[in-house]
Amino acid sequence: MKKRIDTLRPVYVEQLPDLLDPGLLYVSMKFSICAHSCACGCGRKVFTPLGLRDWQLYYDGESITLSPSIGNFRFPCQSHYFIRHNIVVWVKDSEQGTLRKKKKKNRLSFSSLFAGIGKKRGKFG
Ligand SMILES: [Zn+2]
Repeated sequence: MKKRIDTLRPVYVEQLPDLLDPGLLYVSMKFSICAHSCACGCGRKVFTPLGLRDWQLYYDGESITLSPSIGNFRFPCQSHYFIRHNIVVWVKDSEQGTLRKKKKKNRLSFSSLFAGIGKKRGKFG
């Protein structure tokens, strides 16, 4: 049986290790990226790049919060959770639909932005 991870403790590293310890959230300020082993226990690596368009990491002196939620929809486990104050907060199935829609919308506006850039480029050669 897979064991769900309830808390993620931050560890600050320069470079992300090849093997991620479940229960740890690796934070690399140098490369602006976090990584952790999927909280459902499936063992897949979850990378969350940090940035205005990606994830934001909040550190309150003791614990970390990642925003927005982690949605592993590319994985078979389809797990979806928040990391708030080191605690894995699972998204209830009932909330799943609305959150997913929101994400989709964000992604759409993002790709349309790129489409605009492409068009512009075409115009000028
Ligand atoms: Zn998983």
